[in-house]
Amino acid sequence: MSQTFQAAELRSKVVKIVMAAGSAEAEAHKVANNLVMANLCGHDSHGVGMLPRYIDAVLEGGLQPNTGVKTVLDGGAILSLDGQAGYGQVVGEQAMQMGIERALEQGTCIMGLGNAHHLGRIGHWAEMAVAQGLVSIHFVNVLSRPVVAPFGGADGRFGTNPCCIGIPLKGRDPYILDFATSRVAQGKMRVAYNEGRQMAPGYLIDQHGHPTTDPGVVVVPQKGSPGGNMFGAMLTFGEHKGFGLAVACELLGGALTGGGTMHRPGDARRAVLNGMLTILIDPKRMGTQAAFESEAVAFIDWVRQGPVAPGVDAVLTAGEPERAARREREIEGIVLDDQTWGEIEQAGVKVGA
Ligand code: NAD
Repeated sequence: MSQTFQAAELRSKVVKIVMAAGSAEAEAHKVANNLVMANLCGHDSHGVGMLPRYIDAVLEGGLQPNTGVKTVLDGGAILSLDGQAGYGQVVGEQAMQMGIERALEQGTCIMGLGNAHHLGRIGHWAEMAVAQGLVSIHFVNVLSRPVVAPFGGADGRFGTNPCCIGIPLKGRDPYILDFATSRVAQGKMRVAYNEGRQMAPGYLIDQHGHPTTDPGVVVVPQKGSPGGNMFGAMLTFGEHKGFGLAVACELLGGALTGGGTMHRPGDARRAVLNGMLTILIDPKRMGTQAAFESEAVAFIDWVRQGPVAPGVDAVLTAGEPERAARREREIEGIVLDDQTWGEIEQAGVKVGA
């Protein structure tokens, strides 16, 4: 069963709960706007369904309300920032603002942000930079339960490590490529499990390393495993290539930012920390602006104008599905399954909202 909500209703629900968990009103609005925007963009995995986990993390002390970034090093075109386990929606925005300002001043900025609580949909941060005419490249690691298996491995060793590239296109909507290096984002397993759906083959292995289509293997501890607390794992996209990119995200987003890499077994802690290495480039400062503007658009047109495969309506480029979902959901509303809504209500009860 499910219910449909308008974005505004969900925003006020989130604001109320986040404030009851100790956040100032402005922070609660940032969290609410960001989560609901993920739902609007069609990524329910990163929408309001994350709120119960955030609230548990606050109650456990792994997520610090009302916390901003700390500058670890300001080297001009290089910024090293520590998110101090603050809400990713707050420290992510602050860090991006600092990096964008610096890139507009210097032509480029390499910004490392370690120790941020969950940064949500990474495309959100690329969109911020692209809106200022910048190219924005992101490598992100996830410190939480290791849920993704290495290529050829039989258990989870790292997170869903997303990678994102935003590119402004003159006179057009931008190119926003934003994906988990697992075949899909982990939250999509939670959504599928809550809806009682099976996944297609090729996404998951069980706690013994055998292929499975049951999303529950990465959502709930598996019975019969030693200690009863083992999980299965997700597989990377593109076999060894996605695995390679996931490792690069860990090395850049985790090690180079100073936020830390994954090298411990899973535990029950609810906080999800992200490290994000962001590379910002101002195309106006490359000496290639005219070519960039015309060649980029010419290529996108060329790709889109080809014939389509049988059964396909149109060739899309990254960013389009999210914009289409947003247009539709702003009018039609956002559908939440009853399990997800129940968990949100329960999170409210925990903090007296
Ligand atoms: P996905 O598999 O839906 O892929 C999304 C990307 O593919 C987008 O850029 C989209 O525009 C593009 N795309 C989708 N369909 C397309 C088509 N038909 N043609 C061309 N391009 C198409 O997304 P995902 O991998 O499940 O990731 C979902 C979200 O989860 C992302 O926003 C990601 O940043 C986020 N995420 C966050 C974390 C974190 O810890 N903060 C971890 C993992 C994922």
